[in-house]
Formats: sequence, structure tokens, C-alpha cells
Amino acid sequence: MSQPHTIQDEIRLPGFTGRTHLPGETDYDEARRSHNPAVDSRPALIAEAYGVGDLRAALLTARSTGRPFAVQATGHGTHAACDGGILVRTGSMASVLVDPARRIARVGPGARWSQVLAAAARFGLAPLSGSAPSVGVTGYTLGGGLGWLARRHGFAADSVVRAEVLLADGRHVTASPTEHPELFWALRGGGPGFGVVTALEFRLHPVHEVYAGFVSFPIEAAARTLEAYRTWIDGAPDDLSTALMLRRMPDDEQTPAALRGRRVAQLKVLHAGTAAQARRQLAPLLRAAGPALLDETGTTTYGAASMGGTPNRHMDMFDTVPDEVIGALLRASEQARTIEIRHWGGAMSRPGTDAGPVSHRSTRLTVILDTVVPGLAEELRPHANGGTFLNFLADPSRTAAAWTGADLGRLRAVRRAYDPDGFFRVGHVVPA
Ligand SMILES: Cc1cc2nc3c(=O)[nH]c(=O)nc-3n(C[C@H](O)[C@H](O)[C@H](O)COP(=O)(O)OP(=O)(O)OC[C@H]3O[C@@H](n4cnc5c(N)ncnc54)[C@H](O)[C@@H]3O)c2cc1C
Repeated sequence: MSQPHTIQDEIRLPGFTGRTHLPGETDYDEARRSHNPAVDSRPALIAEAYGVGDLRAALLTARSTGRPFAVQATGHGTHAACDGGILVRTGSMASVLVDPARRIARVGPGARWSQVLAAAARFGLAPLSGSAPSVGVTGYTLGGGLGWLARRHGFAADSVVRAEVLLADGRHVTASPTEHPELFWALRGGGPGFGVVTALEFRLHPVHEVYAGFVSFPIEAAARTLEAYRTWIDGAPDDLSTALMLRRMPDDEQTPAALRGRRVAQLKVLHAGTAAQARRQLAPLLRAAGPALLDETGTTTYGAASMGGTPNRHMDMFDTVPDEVIGALLRASEQARTIEIRHWGGAMSRPGTDAGPVSHRSTRLTVILDTVVPGLAEELRPHANGGTFLNFLADPSRTAAAWTGADLGRLRAVRRAYDPDGFFRVGHVVPA
């Protein structure tokens, strides 16, 4: 048998109709780029798929050549390189259909939240999107999907009703409560290791106007506001989602003059109800915080509410918040640019009987920092619950910590059934 001479000789994609990018070609560097500067992926071939047949051709070729295989929609959640492998890009398969009568959206694997937000808003409906509309619907949902309506409607994964999936052996199947039910369970929060999702159907929710924005206080208010926050959250209704941020504001023209260059304690709010209801609920917390430097809250549409995100360099989950944690966070705020203390609970902690394996649902609060503060991880660890959330995790060595022990065992069994050879191995996949 003659040996292949070039990558093109070796990697053939029979029936493939999309575009390919090979090392050395002018657009290869652009095509292999993700949002994660720490990942410098060098695939042997990048295949831009135009349909399910293209996805299957790329998958079967990766299988037959023994090369790594990875899917990329937007690159927002790319945490591992696909060196020497076949990277399939799905950005061209970005269809979005909304059925307003059934309140269901059906999307292609390359769809972004911005598209679904726009399509659903025409009918007074909203998806359970997150802080950035540019994020891909499928990657976000496979990882659980924690948005600003999650306390009211649960994780995005909880709203999935059906998925179409290309399996590791090339079969194309439907996963639903009645077809491949274990696969359907695993897809709703078990991450990307079970197949290539070629279409996703999920519930939309009747939300149009919300009360949202930020209230900023001097950093001197941080200690008393944090102390009030840890008990106030227990009485917060599901319609109200909040986070308390400790921030060093940029000293630039885009930052409001009252905050420019200052350290602040900042309350981030989204209330799926009226302004008056929200202000009533928030009153005890606002009283504890004292006079605000700036109040940027107001009524807006859900799609226009800009909640901002916190780049994640450190994350811990907490079931209780003792004084030691508050003290450590206040000290860390002298070095960190942003610390976000976010309230979970609500519908997230009350899964339906058929809900998927999303994260540690009983978590009361998460803490995310955009800066590595030396010593902080050790200070927080004894008080944290040890879990992590797949979508907020950069380090693939901690993937297993994203699920409870019981869910991890069940996910491994689903992997063995649907991907017995461990074909899907790039990224946050359930460890064998
Ligand atoms: C600015 C920003 C804001 C964010 N905000 C939130 C937030 O508010 N809430 C939240 O929960 N998360 C949030 N995230 C995290 C985000 O949801 C995850 O990073 C998610 O994995 C991104 O999916 P993607 O498709 O956009 O990215 P990609 O990097 O393209 O894909 C991410 C992962 O999903 C896999 N994947 C993509 N498509 C498919 C498919 N069709 N079939 C199988 N696997 C597939 C990929 O292989 C990869 O492992 C945010 C991330 C960023 C960068």
C-alpha cells in the first residue's frame, strides 16, 4: 500500500461540500482562531460544514485516520487544542426557527444567542441566553447555560425538548424523552462529549420588558453590603437575579465620570417584572449599602439588557458564606479588577424529575474573579463546596468536578454506550 504524501492525500472528505482550510493557506490562521488566547490550536485540516452530510464526512474521516476531532461554533468555549486533527466549524449552519404557538425554537449548530433573541422577541418571547449574545447556543446549552432568567426558568439545558445528534459511529439520531432517553439526559448539561449536535429544540419563555442594570457604591460600603447580601438573598423572589461585584473601574472615557478610576461595590440586577416590584425587593439591601455613587438601573427589553460578564480566572461555589470568605474577598478586591459574587438558587435548585446533569444545583453562591490573586484559592477552598460549572471552567483537568458524583457515574455509562472508543476527547468531555 502506498504511503500518503501530503495532508490532502491522507485526509480525504468524501462527499464534503463545505470549505476547507489547510496549514499554509492564507485564511488558515483566521479559521483556527478561538476567543481563548491560551489555546493555539493547529489542526491538520479545518472543515467548514454546510450541512449534516459535511459533518458526517469530517467525523468519519477523523475516525478512519485516527486523528483528533473537534467542533467549533464560535470559539467562545474552546479550552483545548485540536493539534494534528480535524476541526469542524459550524458557523455556516446557523438557522433559527421560532414556533410562537408552541413557544419552541429550533436552531442549527452554528446559531448564536443574538439571532434567537431577535427572532423570539418578535413574539414577546425570550430564550435562556447568558451575558453575551455572541455566544453559541449549542455549546452554551450543552454546558448547562446559566443566564439572567435562570432563577425563574432554570438552566438553558432544562428547557431543551429535543436534539439531533451525529454519533461517534456516524449514525444520525434524535434524542428526546422517548428516543435515546439516556443520551437526551446527558446532553442537557453533560458537555460536548456525546456527539455532534446538528439541531437543538428548546422552550422559549414569555419575557419582554425587564428591570435591569447596575447600582454602584463606594468600596467602603462593600463589607456591610456583602454581609447584608448573604442573608438578603434567601428572601429574594425567583424573578429577581442579582450579583454583587467588587470592581476597580477603568479610568477611561467609556466609564461614567462618577465611577472613573474608582474602586466600587456594584449591585448587578435583572428583574423579570416591574421597576416598582424590584425596588421594593431590593430596598433592604440598598438601605444597608447606603448612598449610591450612580444608579444605572431602568426598564428595558430583555434582549437589550446588557449584564456584562466576568472573565474567569478563578471560580468557587459556596453553600454557606462565613465571615472568613467575606474577609478574604474584601482583601482580594485590593488586587483584583473584578470579583463577582452571584446568587444561584430559585428554579436552578428545583430541577424537574427528568432534568439533566447540570452542575451542582444546590449551590447558593458562586464567586468568580478575573484576576489570579496569590493565596486566595487556599483561603477560599476550606469553605467552598468543591464543585465547578462547566461553562465557567477553563481548566480541562477539573472537568469531572462539574458534576455531582451520582451524575458523573451516569454520564460515564452514557459515554461508554454512545462513544465506547472515546472518539470525542477534545475539550470538556466526561472523563472515562
Ligand atoms: C464573553 C462570554 C460570556 C459568557 N457568558 C456566559 C453566561 O452568561 N452563562 C453561561 O452559562 N456561559 C457563558 N459563557 C460560557 C459559554 O457558554 C461557553 O464557553 C460555551 O461553551 C460557548 O459555546 P460556543 O459554541 O460559543 O463556543 P465554542 O468554543 O465554539 O464551543 C464550545 C464547546 O462546545 C462544543 N460544541 C460546540 N458546538 C457543538 C455541537 N454542535 N455539538 C457538540 N459540541 C459542540 C465545542 O466542541 C466546545 O467544546 C460565556 C463565555 C464568554 C466567552
